[in-house]
Amino acid sequence: MTAVQGGRTPKVLHVSPEAVPFSKVGGLGDVAGSLPAALRDSGTDCRLLTPAWEGVLDRARELGFSLSRLSRKAEAVIRWKIHRGTVWKCSGEGLVAYLLEEPSLFGKTVYPRELTPDSVTPFLFLSLAALDLPSATLWKPDIIHCHDWGTAPLPAALKWHIHFGSSGDVCKTVFTIHNLAHQGLLSLESLGDWGIRNEAARVEGMEYFGMANLMKGALVSCDAITTVSPGYAEEILTEEGGEGLGGLLKSLSGKVSGILNGLDDRYWDPRTDPLLPERYSPDNLSGKTACKKKLLERAGWKDDGRPLLVSVGRMVEQKGFSILLPALEELVGMNCRLFLVGSGQTEYEEAADSAAARFPGSVFVFRGYDEPLAHLAYAGGDFFLMPSRFEPCGLSQLISLRYGTVPIVRAAGGLRDTVFELGTPGGNGFLFSGYTPEDLLEAVARAMEVFRDKDSMQLLSLRGMNADFSWNRSAPLYKKLYESLLL
Ligand code: ADP
Repeated sequence: MTAVQGGRTPKVLHVSPEAVPFSKVGGLGDVAGSLPAALRDSGTDCRLLTPAWEGVLDRARELGFSLSRLSRKAEAVIRWKIHRGTVWKCSGEGLVAYLLEEPSLFGKTVYPRELTPDSVTPFLFLSLAALDLPSATLWKPDIIHCHDWGTAPLPAALKWHIHFGSSGDVCKTVFTIHNLAHQGLLSLESLGDWGIRNEAARVEGMEYFGMANLMKGALVSCDAITTVSPGYAEEILTEEGGEGLGGLLKSLSGKVSGILNGLDDRYWDPRTDPLLPERYSPDNLSGKTACKKKLLERAGWKDDGRPLLVSVGRMVEQKGFSILLPALEELVGMNCRLFLVGSGQTEYEEAADSAAARFPGSVFVFRGYDEPLAHLAYAGGDFFLMPSRFEPCGLSQLISLRYGTVPIVRAAGGLRDTVFELGTPGGNGFLFSGYTPEDLLEAVARAMEVFRDKDSMQLLSLRGMNADFSWNRSAPLYKKLYESLLL
C-alpha cells in the first residue's frame, strides 16, 4: 500500500445520485456502488454518500446492512430555505455509506424528465450537503469524487459558493463523466439560489450559450476529470463526441484520463447468481441451456435451435435503436430471434412493440425495468446486441461476456475497449463501425456463421467468460490518481 501525506492513505468520499445496492437507474448505479467497495478492498478509506430515495432505508435493512442515525444533520441553504438531511451511516458488504434522508427532496424517482429550479434541488442539496457532511460524521475526506451532472454542483461550489468557496478548504475533487450527453442546464439567474457568486456566470465559469451548465462548472473547477473508458476519453475531446464541450475538454486535456469501468464480479457471476434458475460455469455450461429455455418460455417460445439475440438497456437514441429497429425484419429473415428488455423513448417503444406484434414467433419485447429478467436475458441469450451510437463504457457487454453471451456491438467508446472482433487478438465478439442498419446486419451475419459451428461458438463464449473485467484492473488506477492529487 503506497502511503502519502505523511504516511496516510487518502480518505475519499464518493458522491453519487444512485448507487447499488441502494438505488440504480443505469450503469452509474453499478459503478458508484461497487467502486468504493473495491477501493476499500485495496486499502483506501473510501466511503459513499448517496440519497435515501424512497424505500432505500428499508432496502438497506432488508439486505442486512447495519444502520445508525447520526445525531447531527447535514444542512444546506437553497432558495432561502434551510434543508436538513438526516445522515444514516450504513455498513455492510464491504461498503461504508452515508445515506442522506430528506423525504421532501428524495422521493420515488431519481432523475426528473426536465430540469427546473424545483427538480434540480435534490441534486444541489446532495452536493452541498456533501460539503457539510464532515460536521455530522467527524470524518473529513481528502478527496471528494463526484459522479456525473447530478453532483457537478459540488466542485463548482468549492470554487464559487459564498460560504464553501471561501472556506479555505483544501479538499481535492475528482469529477467522473459517465455520460456527457446529460450536462444539467439551468438559467444563469438561478445560480444565486444556491449561493453561487456572480463571477461563475461568465464564459470562463459555468456560462454556456446564455445558460448555466452544471457539468461545465465541474469540469473547469475540479482537480481531475476522469471518464469511464480510454476510448470515450478520446472521443469527448473532439467536436463530434464532445456534446458541445469538446473544445473546453481539449483545453483541459492535461487533467483528463480514461479509466475503464469494472464489473462487480461478485454480483454478476453465473456461478452464484441467485436470480438464475440454474447456475453455470465455464466448466459446465448446462445451466446456460436451462436459462435459455426459461427465457424462451417467458416469450412463449420453445427452443427450435434458432439463435437468440438479446438486448437489455434503455430504449433511447444513444443505445442505437434508430438502427436496430429498422434492421429487425431482416434479422427475423436471417432466422434470428430477438428478446428485448427495456424502456425509454416512446417512438422506439412503439416500434419495438409493433415488431413484436408482426413477428410474434421471433421478436419479444419486455417493456420496463426488471432486474431478475435482465439476469435471465444475459444468461439465456446466445448473442448480446449493443449497437450504441455512443457508449461511454457500457456495462451490459461486460455482463454478457461474463455470462458467456457473445456481444455484437458498435465500435464506440468503451465498447471498442472491451469487445474485439473474432479473429483479431483477444477476439471475443463482433464489431461494426458504421452507424447504419446494414453495418449491424453484416456483423450479425458474421456471428451467424460462427453460431452454425457449435464448437467455435462454445470456444468464443468461454473466452468471454474467462476474461477479467472486474475492478482488479481499474481500482488501482483510481488509487494512483488519488495519490497523485495529494502529493
Ligand atoms: P447506461 O448506464 O448507459 O444505461 P450501461 O450498459 O453502462 O448503460 O449500464 C446499464 C445497467 O442497467 C446494466 O446493469 C443493465 O443490466 C441495467 N439495465 C438497463 N436497463 C434495464 C432494464 N430494463 N431492466 C433491468 N436492468 C436494466
